[in-house]
Amino acid sequence: MNEPDGRAGGVPRTGAEGRDVPPSRTRAHRPCPCCGGLEARMFDRSSRGADQEHATVRCSACALVFVDPVPPGAVDHASYGAAYYEPWQERREERARIRMWRRRLRLLKARRGRGALLDAGCGDGLFLKVARDAGWSVEGIEFSPEGARRSSQRLGRPVAVGDLAAVSGLRGPFDVVTLWHVLEHLVSPTNLLDAARGRLRAGGLLVAAVPNLDNLPMRAAYRVARGRPLPLYEEGAREPHLSHFSPVTLREVLRRRGFESIEIRADLCALTPAKRAIDAVAFCLSPLCGRLLTDAIVAFARRPR
Ligand SMILES: [Zn+2]
Repeated sequence: MNEPDGRAGGVPRTGAEGRDVPPSRTRAHRPCPCCGGLEARMFDRSSRGADQEHATVRCSACALVFVDPVPPGAVDHASYGAAYYEPWQERREERARIRMWRRRLRLLKARRGRGALLDAGCGDGLFLKVARDAGWSVEGIEFSPEGARRSSQRLGRPVAVGDLAAVSGLRGPFDVVTLWHVLEHLVSPTNLLDAARGRLRAGGLLVAAVPNLDNLPMRAAYRVARGRPLPLYEEGAREPHLSHFSPVTLREVLRRRGFESIEIRADLCALTPAKRAIDAVAFCLSPLCGRLLTDAIVAFARRPR
């Protein structure tokens, strides 16, 4: 799926002698969300919008794969209204999600006992409730007003709405800041990482989980089941992923934003038996391939002391 040819696109430029020169085949419409580089090559030809304008490209400098340019309406809290959250309330679904959160919490607890925890992008607040029940002092922030309302209801107290970089009124500094599958949705994941670092106490722990671009077993299963490749970008998707991280590029973006002691692990968060089985196979194959192949990954990283 990694196609080496460059992408056509970019704005025609005028040469020094005044003639129009053809647009560079490797120039991105926007800076790389990780390193700011402007050179990028087509990564996945199948993941293009119908208008052929939007494409997944790979930064020539840091190797991050991202959607270029940003599709209109890609980050819209209207996508996260009541209809988005309703399926999560189904009893079986909620039980599976509670088990998932407890698994994640065990990984977290192994690295940072207990303390003050901030979950940025807290959705309906179930993780915050599970963490609070386990003895953590919790706060949340959610950019969707509907999610924040549901979180507030679940916790019995107000949960902040908005952008972590701009919101006031949160306590802190925090021992732990968690970003569960948030970074991939953002136009600028580095802005959120900087804001998260600013909310951590010195030596505090950042936990950032994202889908894994190296999820080859899940891609193979999708191709068999659906008869087509798993697209990285689909026009009109409700929750488009604007950045696609691998273990290598997740580590790189954290390093560039000043985190240290970075550890990348599998994030075993699949809820259905079929997906969990595929992820179990991926987990077992990972050591043989020398890289993590699970459907999602999670980074643990420290703010320097
Ligand atoms: Zn880059």
